[in-house]
Formats: sequence, C-alpha cells, structure tokens
Amino acid sequence: MSDDPNRKTCIIVGAGISGLLAASALQREGWNATVLDKGSGVGGRMATRRVGGGNFDHGAQFFTVRSERFAGLVEGWLTAGVAAEWASGFADAEGRPNEDGHPRYRGTEGMTSIPKYIARGLDVRTGERAVRVDSGDTGWGVVCESGLRVAGNALVLTAPVPQALELISSGSYRLPDGAMRQLEAVTYDPCLALMLLLDGPTGVPEPGGMQIKGEPLDWIGDNGRKGISEGQAVTVHAGPEWSRSHFEDDETEVIDSMITLAGDRLGTDLASAVIETSLVRWPHSWVTNPHPEPCLVVSDDPPLLFCGDAFGQPKVEGASLSGLAAADRLLGRDPR
Ligand SMILES: Cc1cc2nc3c(=O)[nH]c(=O)nc-3n(C[C@H](O)[C@H](O)[C@H](O)COP(=O)(O)OP(=O)(O)OC[C@H]3O[C@@H](n4cnc5c(N)ncnc54)[C@H](O)[C@@H]3O)c2cc1C
Repeated sequence: MSDDPNRKTCIIVGAGISGLLAASALQREGWNATVLDKGSGVGGRMATRRVGGGNFDHGAQFFTVRSERFAGLVEGWLTAGVAAEWASGFADAEGRPNEDGHPRYRGTEGMTSIPKYIARGLDVRTGERAVRVDSGDTGWGVVCESGLRVAGNALVLTAPVPQALELISSGSYRLPDGAMRQLEAVTYDPCLALMLLLDGPTGVPEPGGMQIKGEPLDWIGDNGRKGISEGQAVTVHAGPEWSRSHFEDDETEVIDSMITLAGDRLGTDLASAVIETSLVRWPHSWVTNPHPEPCLVVSDDPPLLFCGDAFGQPKVEGASLSGLAAADRLLGRDPR
C-alpha cells in the first residue's frame, strides 16, 4: 500500500469474490483499496471448511462461465492452478448422469483457493466487522467492531444487500429514498448447509454431485470425488422452502432430518456411517430478486457503490462481473 497522499483511496466492505476483484482492479490502476471482512478468512460464500479429517465446500459448490470477461478471469485462475474443471454436469435427482457438455469449475483445494489467490498482495483486513459508516466532505469513514477506523475517498459495499443497508444506515449518511426502494426490493433465499464426515462410502453418484434442484434437498456433493478432501466428506444443501421453514429449528433436529433426507435420496443408511457433522445457516444464499444493473452507483461525490451477486447476474460469475463493474465505474470506464 502506498503512502502517496495524492493516491485515490477506496474502502471495500466484503472480501467475497466481488469485493476482492474490485480491489484488485482498483489497485492495478494505482488506487489504495482497503478491504474489510468480518469473517476469519476471505471468500464469503465461496467457503471451504475443515471438519474432522475432511474438507468441505459448504457455500458455492461449482461455477460456470458464460461471458467473455469472466472466461478471461477463469483462464488466469486455471493457469495459476487455483481453479480446475470438475465435470460437465451432475447426476439428476434420480442419480442418472445428466451431462450437458458445459464445464463446471471448482477451486483446486476448495472454493476458497480462488479468493485466497486474488487476495494476495491486496490490503485485506479479516476479522473486521464494519459497524458504522459516516460520510464527510472528502469521502467516507468506516468504524469496525474492533475499534479500527478506515477513511477513503470512495466506499463500495459488497455484503448481501440487507446487511449492506443496515451498515449504510448506521451513521450520519442518509440513503436517498429512490436507492433505498431499489435496494429493499432485492431478496434472497436462505440455505441450510450440512457437512457430514462418514466412515464409509458416500453413495453420491458420479461425478460426485447430485443436482436435485428442488425440495426438501437441493444438492448432495462428495468433496472427496470433487478432489478437495481425503476423507468421505459430503455436503448437503436443503432447498429454499425447507431451509426457510426450518431455519431457526434446533440444530440437532435439523441435522438428523437432513441426514435422513439425504440417506433416502442416496438409498444408503447414512446415519450409521456419520462420524462428524457441522451445520451452517446461510441467511442469504441465492438471489431471488436481483437489481438489474451490474452495480448501483448511489452517489458520485463522494462515491458510494453497491455491488455483488445481487446486481446484474447471480452466482459466482455475476458477483465477479459486478465487482469489476464497480471498479470500472470508479475508474471512469463504462462497465463492459
Ligand atoms: C449454500 C450456497 C450455495 C451456492 N451455490 C453456488 C453454486 O454452486 N454456484 C455459484 O455460482 N454460486 C453459488 N452460490 C452463490 C455464490 O456463492 C455467491 O453468488 C457469490 O459467492 C457471492 O459473492 P459476493 O462477493 O457477492 O458476496 P459474499 O461472498 O457474500 O461476500 C460478502 C462478504 O461481506 C462480508 N460482510 C458482510 N457484512 C460485513 C460487515 N458488516 N463488515 C465486514 N464484512 C462484512 C461477508 O463476511 C462476506 O465475506 C451459493 C451460495 C450459497 C450460500
């Protein structure tokens, strides 16, 4: 990070893929970008966790590539050895092969391999929850729970929109009514994600993923077959309706129900093979009502932008393009 007082500075809240790509693009053009994240590591919903002897992707499971711009990024990640092709489709709800020829990618050591790679050389402060935002004549001030204070000419908020709205309303700044209305219209589905370490075969069909796309379960993945875990490590995602209606339920009840549902789906007695479990409750997993623009510029002076997977397109690709679009806007370029 440079101490040159003439350098433009930006505070980015969120070290998910959108925030990291925005920071990286700004830094390349000579800005000082400081990224704050409340998590203990980078990646946000591209999340990998170790439970017992297994590695689990428990947020995003894989990503696809549609746009040329994202294809360029993925090419770089493949060359750097942080991304790899997993498959070209997964088993369907009945366990039948369902390949469509389009590559699905993974991080080489789990999804976090990619955000960790992008974060190298950036000023990223993890374990820093932003709790207050104030605007001033020359920019923005953000205060973290730890007491850390960061100032910048521009502010980019990449947290899921309800969390970003809470933050921007926490201090002296008042969001214009029009922007507030647009942002309040953004909605997400929740997801209950269960990690299961087993002492026997997982029963997940080739190529290690069952894309159910429904209720009560949406996905069952085998992290060993995926190539990111040594143990028999299964990730189970509940569908949005089931997740919503059980989101606040007792942890043991949720875990037991999801083990039974996954065992029924796979046709195996999962319960007798489980040696360790971990449950994650994602309040914001998939965007159900996105904002149509790739990012939202609320103020030019001082610059305030919202971006992430709720803007433009969803998922890992949409979040990546949104982070780049936010950087484009700050650099005075038309988002590509
Ligand atoms: C269960 C699940 C399954 C998914 N499956 C897929 C999939 O298979 N394929 C796919 O393409 N996409 C999938 N997604 C979606 C994908 O993970 C997201 O679209 C993408 O990772 C979002 O990136 P982002 O940068 O917009 O947000 P995030 O990754 O959410 O990053 C935002 C960051 O902001 C931080 N933050 C929030 N508030 C504060 C604060 N006050 N102070 C500091 N930091 C803060 C958070 O800790 C987080 O790291 C899935 C998501 C979930 C949850």
